[in-house]
Amino acid sequence: MAAEVKKIAVIAGDGIGPEVVAEAEKVLKRTEELFGYRFETEHALFGGIAIDEKGTPLPQETLEVCQRADAVLLGAVGGPKWDNNPKELRPETGLLGIRKALGLFSNLRPAVVFDCLKDASTLKPEVLEGTDLIVVRELTGGIYFGEKYRRDTEYGQEAVDTSSYNVKEVERIVRQAFEIAGKRRKKLASVDKANVLETSRLWREVVNRVAPEYPDVELEHVLVDNCAMQLLRRPSSFDVIVTENMFGDILSDEAAMLTGSIGMLASASLGEGSFGLYEPVHGSAPDIAGQNLANPIATILSVALMFRMTFGYADAADAIEAAVADVLNAGHRTSDIATNKSTAVGTEAMGDLIIAAM
Ligand code: ATP
Ligand code: MG
Repeated sequence: MAAEVKKIAVIAGDGIGPEVVAEAEKVLKRTEELFGYRFETEHALFGGIAIDEKGTPLPQETLEVCQRADAVLLGAVGGPKWDNNPKELRPETGLLGIRKALGLFSNLRPAVVFDCLKDASTLKPEVLEGTDLIVVRELTGGIYFGEKYRRDTEYGQEAVDTSSYNVKEVERIVRQAFEIAGKRRKKLASVDKANVLETSRLWREVVNRVAPEYPDVELEHVLVDNCAMQLLRRPSSFDVIVTENMFGDILSDEAAMLTGSIGMLASASLGEGSFGLYEPVHGSAPDIAGQNLANPIATILSVALMFRMTFGYADAADAIEAAVADVLNAGHRTSDIATNKSTAVGTEAMGDLIIAAM
């Protein structure tokens, strides 16, 4: 039985991006050999390298490569070289542009605590035990995108940021979160600040209206301040957390730190349907680029997330995640997660260990 060919747009990007993406591509190849799935990759320029070679962070042909793909795998973009460029020539502007052009409205960040790395966290191992949660963050609305301005007052300048959400924007992400929770441990925490914010009251109304369509998912409403506290107190009690843009920005960073290194964290940005863009949470890490030091696990776990969320290849996703756990349990570490740096392995060796363990 020949599997359907899945098209993956591969964007290596800047800094350590090409190094970690190369390891993720080895995992794609290994998955084909082991599971019979078939992938067709198409590489495209994006970010700083695209600015240098094409004069824009998001060339039209890159967008087209992404649009004809089933999913996008992205390394990382940006670096000091482009930080002082005018806005339209900054890698970050390309990121906003690609999300918009691809209709990506949610950002998913799993936070899974690997048993053998529990000691690396600042929390007690017994608190972290069993932590496996996903933060689903709305990406297109809220205070980051609202009207902003300054005005003069008798007390000096006043600055104003506004936040808005409409029913459609809330409903699409809430439905997505219910769907995701339904495929996991069936618990959804909707996070808001409904005791003071009007956007939060609308948010909660929409959640309550949609909830009866997902009777098997247990829903709780949690105020954002309480959620911040509970993430540190009893992180294992969460399954899926869904929240608006700014709350999600803050809570997903908080949740990330439960698990130790930034080099371990995967993410997905999703729109309607199954299409998604998958990338490590970390940036381009210019300080360690080109030295075979980067931890490729975040990018490799992003491939596992792609298999699970976009392709429905749970068997391959499980195999990758289990291989990562096995390699860590066997004591192998890249230097970012190593307690003894002298025995740390490099980027390529870590990739090889993981594909061997699959
Ligand atoms: P950005 O603005 O793109 O988020 P940043 O410099 O704020 O970039 P990162 O690029 O994520 O953030 O780097 C933060 C720190 O974490 C750096 O010291 C970097 O070397 C380290 N780091 C990031 N990713 C990795 C990785 N995959 N492996 C090892 N260390 C990493
Ligand atoms: Mg940063």
